[in-house]
Amino acid sequence: MNNEERVADIDWHQQIKHRITTIEELSKFINLTESESKALGTNSRLRMSITPHFLSLIDKNDSNCPLRKQAIPTSQELNFSEDDLSDPCGEEIDMVVQGLVHRYPDRVLLLVTNLCAMYCRHCTRRRLIGQKETSLTQEQLDIAYNYIRKNKKIRDVLISGGDPLMLSDEKIESIIKSLRAIEHIEIIRIGTRTPVTMPTRVTPKLVSILKKYHPLYMSIHFNHPKEISQETKIACEMLADAGIPLGSQTVLLKGINDTPKIMTNLMHELIKIRVKPYYIYQCDLASGTSHFRTTVAIGLKIMELLRGHTTGFAVPTYVIDAPGGGGKVPVAPEYVISRSRGNVIIRNWKKEIYVYPENKQPRVSREGILTEKEVR
Ligand code: SF4
Repeated sequence: MNNEERVADIDWHQQIKHRITTIEELSKFINLTESESKALGTNSRLRMSITPHFLSLIDKNDSNCPLRKQAIPTSQELNFSEDDLSDPCGEEIDMVVQGLVHRYPDRVLLLVTNLCAMYCRHCTRRRLIGQKETSLTQEQLDIAYNYIRKNKKIRDVLISGGDPLMLSDEKIESIIKSLRAIEHIEIIRIGTRTPVTMPTRVTPKLVSILKKYHPLYMSIHFNHPKEISQETKIACEMLADAGIPLGSQTVLLKGINDTPKIMTNLMHELIKIRVKPYYIYQCDLASGTSHFRTTVAIGLKIMELLRGHTTGFAVPTYVIDAPGGGGKVPVAPEYVISRSRGNVIIRNWKKEIYVYPENKQPRVSREGILTEKEVR
């Protein structure tokens, strides 16, 4: 490790060391609201962790700050709705060996750790995170690799958690290298939020490791344009320069990003830092998160106001992860109005109606193919 790398390496360890985890520490920086104090009070079972970086982005004078709401618990988290589920995406049902979820025939999800730099208040996997911090042991990883090795249909592995970039460089390399050694694995993906919550984790050394194992993709969890700090821009630039295609995953969150204006702004900021908007998720039914859920109608309105109003590849797919393990289901405004007798009636983003004729095979005359006029 050269000196530059050593300096880069120090910051993220300092970020972890100085994470804010108690009400006493947090109160030194922010005047907590009654609701926040109640959630963090004595015997609180809500685990909190905020990196100094993310804390620096929070507006300390605004209890409605969209970043504050994602980082600091409120008493609303203590309420449970009848729709709440502890495992909203049904991952436990499809867990074939410890940490390995095999739902779709050709791909798997490998949950390598439950550590995160910050514990997001809306987290889908809150059943796993924020308890005792733990990662898969080498033995558990070997069992997962064996499963993948034996199932030759698996061509894609998504490494997630928690946040896999919380592991050491050596551990990350060991995992990716082991997966790359499996012949039928075509692509490896990493799901992470550290470029947002602790961007200095993206060190030159980490990048030099990752780029050895292409094709390697990264999905980064972004929820608000304010999350795109200068440090995050640099982190994404380093990853993109290393040839790692970057995609975003965004959770639709009530009072945080549930307006067309904020979402459009976020998508525009993402493409400026070379992150392709990938998914907007309808907020899952994780326990204690009902205050973050908004309606599907609002999600559809946002999609309606993205499509046609901005660059095509800035428009992500809006999905609902079907409760209980049904997988991701795309939901979109209706653009096909009807289909009948060889005509498809469609409407565009301006709500103008068009007819697309289909399935009209040209008839062949004795002289050859009929002209367009003759077909009609
Ligand atoms: S970083 Fe991801 S896994 Fe960790 S708490 Fe946030 S949403 Fe959950």
